Amino acid sequence: MPNPKRKHTRSRRDSRRAQNWRLDAVTAGACPNCKNLRPPHTVCPSCGWYNGKLAVAPKQKKAKGAEGGSAGQEKPKS
Ligand SMILES: [Zn+2]
Repeated sequence: MPNPKRKHTRSRRDSRRAQNWRLDAVTAGACPNCKNLRPPHTVCPSCGWYNGKLAVAPKQKKAKGAEGGSAGQEKPKS
């Protein structure tokens, strides 16, 4: 029965195991209409365009609530 000749160090063992925890970077491309980042092969979540035309009507961001409501609830843009 073959056995490993040398013990692998903790560093080598742990770095091997760490590969399974790596996360892939999220792939995203710029929307040709609004230039926002969106996943490929996906309707743009911000403007609703796909394949050069409007596929889904974009969601309205509660224009009435933002105008009449209190401005303190919105997240501050740094
Ligand atoms: Zn877009």
